[in-house]
Amino acid sequence: MKKFVIVIFALLTLIEACAPSADKLTFRSDGTFRILQFTDLHLQLQHPDQIADVFDRMDSLVKWEDPDLITITGDLVYSTPADTLIRLIVGKLDSFARPWVIVYGNHDHEHGFTLAQLAQFIVQGQHTLNTLDPTGTLADFEIPIYKTPGRAGGDEERHARPDRASFYLFFLDSHAYSTYNDSFSYAWFEPEQVEWVRTTAGAHAEIPSIAFFHIPFPEYAEVTNYVGEWTEPVCCPKFNSGMFNAMKETGFIATFCGHDHDNSYAGIYDNVLLAYGRYSGSNGEYNHLPKGARLITLRSSGSLETCILDSSGAHNLVAFPE
Ligand SMILES: [Zn+2]
Repeated sequence: MKKFVIVIFALLTLIEACAPSADKLTFRSDGTFRILQFTDLHLQLQHPDQIADVFDRMDSLVKWEDPDLITITGDLVYSTPADTLIRLIVGKLDSFARPWVIVYGNHDHEHGFTLAQLAQFIVQGQHTLNTLDPTGTLADFEIPIYKTPGRAGGDEERHARPDRASFYLFFLDSHAYSTYNDSFSYAWFEPEQVEWVRTTAGAHAEIPSIAFFHIPFPEYAEVTNYVGEWTEPVCCPKFNSGMFNAMKETGFIATFCGHDHDNSYAGIYDNVLLAYGRYSGSNGEYNHLPKGARLITLRSSGSLETCILDSSGAHNLVAFPE
């Protein structure tokens, strides 16, 4: 009986070490944490064949890559009624039984429902980490990933404290369009968001952070040494909000966006990795790259590896910092 209890306890410990719960994300015992980024689903209710294609792709990639967290970085819905489509997406994400996060894109408010109305369906998800802000839409938020004590590792593992975060994830709403009427521009981060990032990340700037949002900021057009596809202009806001500088100065090592369906590169600007995801969606919008996703593998030592996944496998591996 005693042996049986010990085995059960060991199994429970192992399960806890391997499977992050919704309220506390932890690195695996091998020191990795895997994030699967889908982006720009552009689902249309009148094209169930395309919805099935997108969901099949999500099923396959989650099954094969076994991520610890799944995110979709915007442009989820592309037809009315948006609530039906959002509920389908929430159901699909919940079916994977692991934590997930949605950030909005510039098209999600255009299909008969406000972002606050859609958010009500999202936060009802069983495995979502999303919460509401005071206005009722999805809140910007940060979440730490904690180390797990090593069993037979080196000094770093033996001394790792399970209560100490070794990475922070930020999820931000990059909004849709400028509200100024003088000329068209995509929206930029609000000053309050920039200040919130400065304050929040600044409180732990010695610990690396990464961010997920939809619309790239202007620095994406300035990267060098990029790996992957850059086949359309960077469709960023005309105004620079200062978000990149805020992140650069508070410990961010990488950002991940969507929005430009024919870009999926990762490049360096001022020693920060700026990366696109890979278009994961339907044929309801332009796309000329093989559909897929981006995998980001964080290491509790403070670095990451990332690659593009599509029907022909894994491509464009980047390790950062090298
Ligand atoms: Zn899009």
